[in-house]
Amino acid sequence: MRILVQKFGGTSVSDIDRLKMVRGKVCAELDKGYKVLVVLSARSGKTNKLIELAGRWAKKPDPAELDSLLSTGEQASIVLFSMMLKDSGIRAKSLLGWQIPILTDDSFGMARILSISKEYILKAFEDNDVLVVAGFQGVTKDGRITTLGRGGSDTSAVALAAALDSCPCDIYTDVDGVYTTDPNLCSSARKLDRVSYDEMLEMASMGAKVLQIRSVEFSKKYNVPVQVRSTFNDHPGTLVTQEDAMMESVLVSGIAYDRDQARITLCDLPDRPGVSASVFSALAENGIVVDMIVQTASRNGVTDMSFTVPKKSMEDATAIVKPLVDSFGVGIDTATNVAKVSVIGVGMRNHSGVASRTFDALFRENINILMISTSEIKISCLIEEKYVELAVRTLHDTFELDKTAE
Ligand code: ADP
Ligand code: ASP
Ligand code: MG
Repeated sequence: MRILVQKFGGTSVSDIDRLKMVRGKVCAELDKGYKVLVVLSARSGKTNKLIELAGRWAKKPDPAELDSLLSTGEQASIVLFSMMLKDSGIRAKSLLGWQIPILTDDSFGMARILSISKEYILKAFEDNDVLVVAGFQGVTKDGRITTLGRGGSDTSAVALAAALDSCPCDIYTDVDGVYTTDPNLCSSARKLDRVSYDEMLEMASMGAKVLQIRSVEFSKKYNVPVQVRSTFNDHPGTLVTQEDAMMESVLVSGIAYDRDQARITLCDLPDRPGVSASVFSALAENGIVVDMIVQTASRNGVTDMSFTVPKKSMEDATAIVKPLVDSFGVGIDTATNVAKVSVIGVGMRNHSGVASRTFDALFRENINILMISTSEIKISCLIEEKYVELAVRTLHDTFELDKTAE
């Protein structure tokens, strides 16, 4: 049995006409002799509407109940699409996460997949040519519905492909593939034919929402051949794959941005062992995800410590560090009008000068850098949010990403 996983995102399932295009993509693979496991998202905007609805019924919606509510968006998509397929004479069946089951831990809203029953899927394929599985959802061992974090249907799809002996996984979306930067922000963005798992991981974690980070982690770990492509045409997409020598010869492969950043600065902290530990332990214990961290050099026994958190965590994070800040008798300063731009490329490992060119490009546009963080294959700068588009375009130009490498 040859199996292929196809995932269709929110804009691909938003109305009947689009679902007919999805049916076309499924039929094309059936004609090639594949059994097709289709993973669907909720229609675009649906998950946001459900979150908003929950917020009207409860000040702080219970996370487990919220997940049950959010999972209904995907439920509607798979049931409607299965009906459409059956109507066209295709042997199809819809499946919710708990029916397979896709077993997760109990971190509601951000659950991690623990296991997927391959046997159940293979059995279901005996009587069906297409299985239409709800993305974004799983179930705990106690039978509670969970969701996998925003954009989680990508992870459902790749995890299902991994469970099916790492069969091919095509992620269909509203752009032709993975670009050098968001094509909706920068018109000279160029589609990449291939991108390495590590670069894709950095791009996703730096804000490129075309793939959820965890889906890339899964594809790398289990060597799932992932292709990102468009639902609305037949152009070849982008292959997310193992790194090779060709990729290393390219200095920079993409620019990502993330508007979901807020900065917190603790001013004049005492410069002694244990201070950072107390601040970041308190945040971690409360489940706050910290991104960039910068501590200034000590001057007269004090330092400034700045860090960033998602915008929605800003108030909670400030409240958590407040008692510590008070006990040290120091100041706290916050900003939500910030964003992060990142330059990414495996070629950086062996070349110097990317950082200086990045800083110089931002300087030429008079964009002030508030914080910097780096990894082996990435340089990130925190800047004022109003300069995001300008920064992305100027960095894209600086590294000539509109041109194909020789
Ligand atoms: P879906 O609903 O299909 O899951 P998403 O909206 O989650 O689609 O992801 C696709 C979007 O990701 C694109 O419309 C594009 O605006 C955005 N995006 C951001 N960075 C990139 C990038 N480097 N390449 C392609 N798309 C990107
Ligand atoms: N519907 C979910 C979301 O909007 C999951 C997904 O679309 O991947 O985040
Ligand atoms: Mg998505």
